[in-house]
Amino acid sequence: MSLPNIDQEYFVDFLVKLLNIASPTGFAEPAVAFVERELSQFNQLELSRTRKGALIAKWAVESDLTPIALTAHVDTLGAVVKEIKSNGRLRLSRIGGIQWPTIETEGVWIFTSKGERIRGSVLIDAASGHIYSGTGKETPRNDEHMEVRLDARTTSEQETRQLGINVGDCIAFDPRVEVTNGFIRSRFLDDKACVANIVTAIKSLAEAGLSPVRTVYFHISNYEEVGHGASAGIPSEVAELVTVDMAVVGAGQESDEFSATLCIKDSGGVYHEGLNKKMRSLAEQHGIPYKTDVYPFYGSDGEAFWRAGGDVALALIGPGIDASHNYERAHMDGLNATTNWIMAYLLD
Ligand SMILES: [Zn+2]
Repeated sequence: MSLPNIDQEYFVDFLVKLLNIASPTGFAEPAVAFVERELSQFNQLELSRTRKGALIAKWAVESDLTPIALTAHVDTLGAVVKEIKSNGRLRLSRIGGIQWPTIETEGVWIFTSKGERIRGSVLIDAASGHIYSGTGKETPRNDEHMEVRLDARTTSEQETRQLGINVGDCIAFDPRVEVTNGFIRSRFLDDKACVANIVTAIKSLAEAGLSPVRTVYFHISNYEEVGHGASAGIPSEVAELVTVDMAVVGAGQESDEFSATLCIKDSGGVYHEGLNKKMRSLAEQHGIPYKTDVYPFYGSDGEAFWRAGGDVALALIGPGIDASHNYERAHMDGLNATTNWIMAYLLD
């Protein structure tokens, strides 16, 4: 059976919109709500939320086969206000592991607890070249020396507090999305690209008048970057869980931006041999370009479910993402391969 066509224009449009919604872990609700609105147009799906705020979309079908699940996450790296400095600027506490040098001079939004947003940018505390020309180069890019300069009139802690900013407020780094020549360059393609893969796969099947062979739960996770997104929310009747998350591209890796990857092992352990075999044979059957790989510093939401006691066969697939947790990049070839792989799995 051949797979339905992918609406690539839709994929890019949905992904770019999702990338432009700030959603650091703990503050991901606007992104979850956006995906929820999008999926609400498919009356095949029954939508619900976990208490933690994750989105569950159930596509129920008449079948004696055991249900399956797929998960991908919309939460991203980010930061919160750690301290308001005496000069009115902000010290940050990072959410997840963004590397400081990659966000030096980046634009940010501060989302206050009262619902307002204030613009700013990330700088070292010795930023002016005309003052610190020598020492600025040497300044360590770390929690102590990086700060947010607000685009508001403040030179004191008190003035910053009067703007409505408090310790604990969310800080979101600009994603800087660009689409050029089949490449999508942006922060946080991990894992919004894979949420777009899932949503586009659902749309492609629905528009072709097709249904999954078994009942499927799509779990849109909101706490992955801190390690426990999918630890809850996968129903116990689910027999197989496919985590859809980025593949690691770079020196020593098999993965590339033009293929999807089946991860065999990461730092969280080894995936399920039986389900891996099934995913490989589906890729081969449908001519989907894929690699197998091992990721050096990586843990997945599927493993979070395993650790929490989840009893499922588990696999991890996803598109190759260059420079992950940095200024990331993907290509439509790898992205389409992932969407096709998801559809092949749902139809098998
Ligand atoms: Zn991820």
